[in-house]
Amino acid sequence: MPALAFHMPTFCDVALAVPLDMAFTYAIPPGMEPVVGGRVLVPFRQQRFSGIVVALHDRPPRVKTKKVIEALDLAPVLDEQLLKLGKWIADYYLAPVGEVFRAMLPLAAEFKHAVAYRITDAGRMALHLAGTSGSPARSKRAPEEQLVEFRVLDYLAERESAREESLRRATHVPVSTSKLKALLAGMVRKKWIVREDVSAARDAARVVKVAVLHVPVESRLAASPAAETGQAPSLHISSSPAKPAKKLNENQRTLIETLAASGGRLPVEALRGLDVSRTTLATLVRRGLIELVDAPQDFALSRLKPRQSPFEFEFSAAQKDALAKIGEAVGARKFGGLLLHGITGSGKTAVYLACMREVLEQGRSSILLVPEIGLTPAVAADLHQVFGDEVAILHSGLSDAERADQWHRIRRGEARVVAGTRSAVFAPVGDLALIIVDEEQDSSYKQEETPRYNARDVAVMRAKMAGAAVVLGSATPSLESYYNAKKSKYALVELPDRVEMRPLPEVEIVDMRQEFQETGKEQVISRKLAEEIRERLEKKEQVMVLLNRRGYSPVVLCRACGKTLQCKNCAVSMTHHKRERKMECHYCGHVAHIPDKCAHCGSEYVYFVGTGSEKLEELLHGMFPQARIGRLDRDTVRGREDFEQALNALNEGALDMLVGTQMIAKGHDIHGVTLVGVVGADMALGLPDFRAAERTFQLLTQVAGRAGRGQSPGKVVLQTYFQDHYAVQFAARHDFAGFYEKELQFRAWMHYPPYSAIANVLIRSEKLDDALTWSGALGHWFEKTRHEGIRVLGPAAAPITRLKRDYRYHFILKSPSREKMNALLRAMLAEAAARKIPRTQVIVDVDAVWLM
Ligand SMILES: [Zn+2]
Ligand SMILES: [Zn+2]
Repeated sequence: MPALAFHMPTFCDVALAVPLDMAFTYAIPPGMEPVVGGRVLVPFRQQRFSGIVVALHDRPPRVKTKKVIEALDLAPVLDEQLLKLGKWIADYYLAPVGEVFRAMLPLAAEFKHAVAYRITDAGRMALHLAGTSGSPARSKRAPEEQLVEFRVLDYLAERESAREESLRRATHVPVSTSKLKALLAGMVRKKWIVREDVSAARDAARVVKVAVLHVPVESRLAASPAAETGQAPSLHISSSPAKPAKKLNENQRTLIETLAASGGRLPVEALRGLDVSRTTLATLVRRGLIELVDAPQDFALSRLKPRQSPFEFEFSAAQKDALAKIGEAVGARKFGGLLLHGITGSGKTAVYLACMREVLEQGRSSILLVPEIGLTPAVAADLHQVFGDEVAILHSGLSDAERADQWHRIRRGEARVVAGTRSAVFAPVGDLALIIVDEEQDSSYKQEETPRYNARDVAVMRAKMAGAAVVLGSATPSLESYYNAKKSKYALVELPDRVEMRPLPEVEIVDMRQEFQETGKEQVISRKLAEEIRERLEKKEQVMVLLNRRGYSPVVLCRACGKTLQCKNCAVSMTHHKRERKMECHYCGHVAHIPDKCAHCGSEYVYFVGTGSEKLEELLHGMFPQARIGRLDRDTVRGREDFEQALNALNEGALDMLVGTQMIAKGHDIHGVTLVGVVGADMALGLPDFRAAERTFQLLTQVAGRAGRGQSPGKVVLQTYFQDHYAVQFAARHDFAGFYEKELQFRAWMHYPPYSAIANVLIRSEKLDDALTWSGALGHWFEKTRHEGIRVLGPAAAPITRLKRDYRYHFILKSPSREKMNALLRAMLAEAAARKIPRTQVIVDVDAVWLM
């Protein structure tokens, strides 16, 4: 028989997660079959790295190549589309392609052990023949090798698959690792065994017991004899028409009702909180009403109670219109971009869920992106309620193994609805029909480390490549997206009213300069706000107060020499945290003792100046001792659970007031809140950042949107020192269009986005000398390089001149032509490399969100 005309290329190019803008060529040993888009293990500078194969070829490189150690995947982990997307990101953001791929794949947990062996039919036959003939195979090889092969087959015949480590133990033959590897490779060639990519799902996943309601429940509370005798009414369960309904005791009823209310599934762990004994659950399991199944741990449901089902609402005309337009874009099966501009409380989430359900009914996939922590729990509860097992949720609280697990579920097609934060944009879904980016303006979509991509913009590009629809949703769209919509790059869909026509809250501005003049002292809570809070508390309504700065006092000042306590790693003030009795740098996390005298002059006259959320909480406690006050900021919220707990407490009426940073501003739907106080949300207006006005407008609008989402109308008291600033004025009037017109004018004059592309080039070093020399040299190079149509500002000291021990200088590039700007940046990187400036010390941030 003629040999199969299949030729395995002899070389592969591998993208490694190292800070170098290139792929590396390796030789492929005979018998190994790496795939493009799959991972390989390779030697790199005395280390082993796993990387992604980007090309297979027969072109020997000029230098001597090393060999691939192991091919880790039989099938690509990045399909053609995701590979292409990764290359686009590397190109657009000038990021090393290997580092981009690493960011796209949450599979770090698998790099250690990813391979197992499984016996084939041919292997079973060989084993059978060996058993009858007394020798595993006729060959001239050493009996010892044959013995190993025999034992391997014997061991594998008993089980589904086994790792190399287990095989070594099972064979009981002292062969070296390399010898065993060679033997196994030989057996693979003989097709007795196959190597498998062991999915993390089977491998690394921690499994939890989940209770599943096993029978349809008619959750009506029937009046029963028990009820008449004063006991709790019993719940009737009708498992099937044939069986008579059985009565349950109170504990059993509680348990079943809880399960039913959670969509019929809950981790056993979550049921423990119900205060019913283990035997209750065991009894129900025995009676066949509940089944216990294994589930990956990350699938634990959000403990935030599902909100009123979004589908119980009658959709408004505007919502229906939005649904129809999105449905049309999905149905077109080509790229379509929509900007869904819905004011706070207009029911955007319900629209998202309805669209995703439609997509799922067509057997296609969708991805919902949400900002970092704010929306995840509430949205997760809704998603579980609507989609059950079909949804995979990716968020920052997951461990590596859990993340890998979700990734595999998605890739196997078990979850076609994906929701998550930034990196969920890379979810390996098949037949992608729709990507939704909620709160598209949120800065958490921008990754502030390499690769510095913006998930919103990547979502648009991915949709383009997939021929899918992309919906950017927001109450306060970014200037860029709104501009694109105005230019008809996106279709603009508006939800101009709140659900059930609830009015937007009335906003009252309190001028804090005037407050100072009238009261003669610096106030944190104005008289007006205090009066309004008192009124709400008396009416048993709820209050939120925003102060966008955590800690107790942001500055420690010496009255003798005028110096402040600075972080030893950064040129910023240390913040006083009173309860934890420490000073903390909010930029690098450095912690120090609370000073009792000045570090510069030794004076004892050190003062703690200014107010953070911790102090605000204390102040409010003092003013309203009877009120139950909770706080939500990064000091009180360590994980998703703390966050959910605080929101649940507010939702259930266990709190009267919630104080916090911008965390409280995002997307929560708490119906009892009728007053929102804003204390110093306009501090950002004093920062040297061209997005300061936009951010302030967005934050003010978002937090104002928390008021009056229930039956009672809401009110906002906005304290400000910038009362005439247009961001404050437009936010107070809920005048979105007005703000955007004004801000666009400013951007046009200043050549800022959306009129120009912008990039921030940061040169950093722990040595001041290096930072100065390098930025000076690059400044010189920019000066003598022709770059028509590109403005280069700098070098200048960055607004935060020292951060995490690095001294920082920067350039800002602006150009109406992104292509020209990126070409110049590429040339600059080449120049930096030629001057031996380490790649990690030159940070190129394309479409920078922070210029600090
Ligand atoms: Zn001093
Ligand atoms: Zn610091």
